[in-house]
Order: sequence, then structure tokens, then C-alpha cells
Amino acid sequence: MNAVFDLHCHSTASDGALTPTELVHRAGEQGVTTLSLTDHDTTAGLAEAQHSAKSVDIDLIPGIELSASWNHQCIHIVGLDIDPQFPPLCKGIDALQSLRIERAEKIAGKLENKKITGALESVKRSAGKGMITRTHFAEFLLSHNHVSTLQEAFDRYLSRGKPAFVSTDWTATEDAVSWIRDSGGVAVLAHPLRYKLTASKMKRMLAEFKEMGGQGIEVVTGRSTPDEIRVSANYAKSFELSGSVGSDFHNPKNPWVELGRLAPLPFGISPVWELLAS
Ligand code: AMP
Ligand code: MN
Ligand code: MN
Ligand code: MN
Repeated sequence: MNAVFDLHCHSTASDGALTPTELVHRAGEQGVTTLSLTDHDTTAGLAEAQHSAKSVDIDLIPGIELSASWNHQCIHIVGLDIDPQFPPLCKGIDALQSLRIERAEKIAGKLENKKITGALESVKRSAGKGMITRTHFAEFLLSHNHVSTLQEAFDRYLSRGKPAFVSTDWTATEDAVSWIRDSGGVAVLAHPLRYKLTASKMKRMLAEFKEMGGQGIEVVTGRSTPDEIRVSANYAKSFELSGSVGSDFHNPKNPWVELGRLAPLPFGISPVWELLAS
């Protein structure tokens, strides 16, 4: 059987639409053989995913996607093969969860300034026990007809510079990397081209990330173009980082992104899974 890796996706433990069980089953149907569940700032979905993975014969890598700050910019660090019980990681996650709740209250306040009421109650309800993310606010704005697409919710309200954006001091990148590494995991820079950094800032970030103990970079994501794969692969080579592949799947309603539907890693890039304990 062909090995099919997908090392980045989300469940209802954060802003994904599928429960961990539904997600693992869908991954199985799509032919994925190794899956990492990487919810935003939480490991709450991992036990259920691990349990379901056994019944569909998927190798489930415990993962997380940590929100970190680098140079006043939010970046995402994926941790692969982490130990979800590792105390410093758990403590760090607790702090991030508090930040998320405080931020949600501020976002709702800013929406109220724009005469949009009821957001906080709504996102708390839709997130349930999971992390509240901007995706929940975008869904609220869409379902209450304040916007006509999720993208418009980000473009008009939730992105940096827009009226309901709340700048947040996430965890220092150095701390995020060390919680992951010290728990036995591999730290991977998620979707490197989404931060819109200049090439020189990107190089500085990658040099620092590597220095901190970062070992991987996502070279192939769910919506990467061939050009983007080439650019990311060049960063992987220049900074001697292993390449990861992850769809960043959130919702089956998005026709552009599917679990396991990923281009292969380009020739010459060391696969990040070679670093994972088997
Ligand atoms: P948060 O971590 O709470 O700031 O939420 C970030 C999440 O919002 C990301 O993981 C994406 O799932 C989603 N997101 C961010 N920007 C966009 C966008 N422009 N369109 C759709 N979803 C987005
Ligand atoms: Mn997300
Ligand atoms: Mn991300
Ligand atoms: Mn993600």
C-alpha cells in the first residue's frame, strides 16, 4: 500500500467542522495512511482521534498547531509527535487558551461597536468545549448575513487592520518550539508563505527558528501552487529544514482542500516523517 501523509488538519476541538472520529474516517476513505491532528492550541481531540485511528488502520501522530509571536507577527508552529501530557506544554496550552478567551471577548466588543451584537454567546455555543477561533466569528458573521462569504468576514472585519481585529501577544516562538521539542516532538513552521513576509524577514525568521530548534517547514499545503512549492522547498534546502506536507483541512464544504490530496515533496527535500519516532 502506498504511504499517504497528511500532517496538518483540524477537528471540532478547534475550528474544524468534523469531530476527531469523523475526520479520521474521512482520512481513511481518502487513502491517508499517516495523519496528524493539529488543532489550534489544544490537544483535546487527540485521544478520540487515536482511538478511531486504530479501527481504520491509520497511523495517528499526536500533533498541535501553536499560535506564536515572532517580531510582533502571529505565526503558526506545528508540533508533530508531541507528548500531550508533557507538563510545560500543558501549561503553555492553558495560557494560550486564556488568551483566546480574552481575545474573543475583545473581538465581540469591537463587533458591538459596529452594532453587531450577540457574537460572544454565539461563538461560545458553536465552539462548545473547543477553542474559539476567528473562524467561529466568521461563521457567525456569515450566518447572521453581515457578510456573504467567510472570506469577506476576514476581509471586512477580522483580518489585521480591520475593525474587529485584536492584536494578541501569543507565546514567544522560542517557547513554542521548546515545549514541542522538550515533549519529544518535531517543530514545523506552518504554511510559511501565508505570513506575507519580505524575503529578508523570512530568512531572518527561518534562521532564528532553526537556531531555536525548529526542524521542519511545510513545503506542500492543501492549496499550494507549483510555484509556492518551489519557493518553500528552496527555503527548506537553504536552512536545512525537513519538508512537511499537510492539507490544513478544516471543512468538507471547502471543495479546494481535501485530506491527503497533496502534491509530493519535491526531489531532494528530506521528509519530516523520517524524524518521527516509528
Ligand atoms: P485564529 O487562530 O483564531 O486567529 O484563527 C485563524 C484561523 O482562521 C485560521 O486557522 C484559518 O482557519 C482561518 N482563517 C484565517 N484567515 C482566513 C481567511 N482569510 N479566510 C478563511 N479563513 C481564514
Ligand atoms: Mn484554522
Ligand atoms: Mn495555521
Ligand atoms: Mn491549521
